[in-house]
Amino acid sequence: MNDHDIREIVIIGGGTAGWMAAAAFSCLLEPGSAKITLVESDEIGTVGVGEATIPPLIAFNNMLGINEDEFLAATQGTFKLGIEFVDWGAPGERYFHPFGPHGQDFRGVHFHQLYLREAGRRALPDIAEWSMSAAAAARGRFARPPPDARLPLSQLAYAFHFDAGLYARFLRAYAERNGVRRVEGKIVDLALDAESGHVRSVKLADGGTITGELFIDCSGFRGLLIEEKLGTGYEDWSRWLPCDRAVAVPCRLPGPPDPFTRSTARGPGWQWRIPLQHRMGNGLVYSSAHASRDEAEALLLANLEGETLADPRHLAFTAGRRRRAWNANVVSLGLSSGFIEPLESTSIHFVQSGIAKLLALFPDRRFGPVERDEYNRQMKDVFEDVRDFIILHYKATRRRDSEFWAYCREMEVPDGLAAKLELWRSKGRLFREGRELFGTASWVAVLLGQGIVPEEQEPAVGALDPAMIADALDKMRLSYRHMAEHMPAHGDFIAQACAAR
Ligand SMILES: Cc1cc2nc3c(=O)[nH]c(=O)nc-3n(C[C@H](O)[C@H](O)[C@H](O)COP(=O)(O)OP(=O)(O)OC[C@H]3O[C@@H](n4cnc5c(N)ncnc54)[C@H](O)[C@@H]3O)c2cc1C
Repeated sequence: MNDHDIREIVIIGGGTAGWMAAAAFSCLLEPGSAKITLVESDEIGTVGVGEATIPPLIAFNNMLGINEDEFLAATQGTFKLGIEFVDWGAPGERYFHPFGPHGQDFRGVHFHQLYLREAGRRALPDIAEWSMSAAAAARGRFARPPPDARLPLSQLAYAFHFDAGLYARFLRAYAERNGVRRVEGKIVDLALDAESGHVRSVKLADGGTITGELFIDCSGFRGLLIEEKLGTGYEDWSRWLPCDRAVAVPCRLPGPPDPFTRSTARGPGWQWRIPLQHRMGNGLVYSSAHASRDEAEALLLANLEGETLADPRHLAFTAGRRRRAWNANVVSLGLSSGFIEPLESTSIHFVQSGIAKLLALFPDRRFGPVERDEYNRQMKDVFEDVRDFIILHYKATRRRDSEFWAYCREMEVPDGLAAKLELWRSKGRLFREGRELFGTASWVAVLLGQGIVPEEQEPAVGALDPAMIADALDKMRLSYRHMAEHMPAHGDFIAQACAAR
């Protein structure tokens, strides 16, 4: 340790964000270097939703040495191979956004170019038929991918569905075993250092005080430190993402859990369906300018597949991000740092990404601007890249059934997205910028799935033998299908490997 090292970290909030941070810091910071305290209030509670994830969470769990089967058993978890989108392009249409790639590129030509060329010659099924994850999902099957990259099954990529409350509980046990101190109490005041403007301590309702050097604000939408105390400011993105409410309710599972999330477009927004081991998570994300609270609740309840298991829960939010995720000695993680609706299940990933970047740019007690500015720059990119991908789902629609969809279809989109769409429309070109979370396969799935087909293909595909393209496509498709047909049913895999106890 040197003289400037941080000795006291205080995490405010015990939702998914707070306990992910506590678990990661307790495992990955030098043992004994800093005392970690987490404050949470049972009276206030957590947001209580957040059930679907994306594949990078596997790396987070691995980094912490968490056994995947134990984690799934403890959280009523299931496997997720992607998202089925229903009625998004137009009513009656559906497509699958799988994790992992489509097919295989050939001589530097992207697979989707081969697919589009062949689709110009004969009728082809959906591009999802060339995805290992989608082929398994369509058959309700699951197996873990083998390390041998030559096998088609190695292209299968997965994430999880789980009960977010149970995940926080699981991580809490992990963090407490590693020495994190948990304090239950409601914070009623904060003290700032008059000179530096840094947060020095928080005061609890019972009169107790907790001092710290680095504060992690995981207090949820309100941003107790980052906004209410430091007044950092919020960039509002609701002109592109007009949904600002959600109503959530669990129901009984109608059968064995599917290994995918379903998202169905509805008049004023869209509905999620997330199968866990013990229940189905459901919710309607909607625009309050286009549906009232009662209308939204009625719409959700009319579209459930089983008996409800709790009262509907209503939530309000504004799409956007905190102008600086790190301000003074406060780093915001989770909902306090911003929120993009759960259409592609990215919020928990933002927490993971924030933790990883903070560890890579960990400050000392001098809190120089270099690390902070770099952290803020990187988190801005993370949020904006995902924002544009989510906006694409709304913009690329031919729905005409409601004012909400008319608005989305006609709205101006951010410049970066507009440029991306132009490149795609011209010759089907896509470029992954920097560390963008969603790669080519994801963009292709949504663009083609919602009916945006390029006018031409890039010239390089013309240099390839058409008979070779046709043959390669047929063989690939067959091998994905064959592999999927020989996998265990998803429910059987869970029963054997990770059933909740
Ligand atoms: C409708 C909806 C659906 C979602 N679906 C998904 C999804 O499918 N996938 C995904 O990745 N994410 C999803 N999310 C986001 C996900 O729920 C959150 O990102 C995640 O749970 C992190 O929340 P949090 O820990 O930041 O905040 P919270 O869960 O709100 O926790 C805040 C914590 O701060 C504490 N606190 C607040 N004020 C005080 C105080 N004064 N004193 C003491 N403690 C205090 C609270 O007690 C609580 O412990 C969804 C969010 C919404 C709104």
